[in-house]
Amino acid sequence: MKKPKWIKSVRLLGAVLPVVEVKLIEDRANNHGRFIFASRTIEVKKDLMADGYLGALLHEAVHAGGDLIGIDFDESQTDRLSTMILSLIRDNPKLVKMIRKGNDDE
Ligand SMILES: [Zn+2]
Repeated sequence: MKKPKWIKSVRLLGAVLPVVEVKLIEDRANNHGRFIFASRTIEVKKDLMADGYLGALLHEAVHAGGDLIGIDFDESQTDRLSTMILSLIRDNPKLVKMIRKGNDDE
């Protein structure tokens, strides 16, 4: 997979969460991303290929979503939820189109 186009923010439950490209995840050199709860910012390591980028972004978006709805998902739950959400979106284009109907202005 090639290098992805960078996404600058993720909208979730009415919040706009900045997505920041970082050289290294502070204190977690092996991680591809993190969600900073205090600033509600997603950091994703630069130079990831598309699959790693997408996985990291979805994982951190699940952490963010948990924060927004008041559930502190652990790492295992976050991984499983992000995999489930990816499958739901990737494997159901008609459903996604139905959900997005009227929202194609971007
Ligand atoms: Zn995590």
